[in-house]
Amino acid sequence: MKEIKIEDKQKYLRENYPFADLPEVYEKKRCMHCDSTFFVGTFKVFKNESGMEFICCPNAPECNGTVIDWIDI
Ligand SMILES: [Zn+2]
Repeated sequence: MKEIKIEDKQKYLRENYPFADLPEVYEKKRCMHCDSTFFVGTFKVFKNESGMEFICCPNAPECNGTVIDWIDI
């Protein structure tokens, strides 16, 4: 997977966030995989070979958590 640089994180979330309760970039979430707390706006985006994009933990690629592993704190 290749990391993609996102200029406007809030816009990217609005267009790609998979759940209904869209978070703001300044909100904090916790990643269940690496157990770290982060600001939503620090997420990374990775693209696989088929062109699918994944919203990932800020600690990726060391952490393999994605947006579905984020929990509210
Ligand atoms: Zn993580």
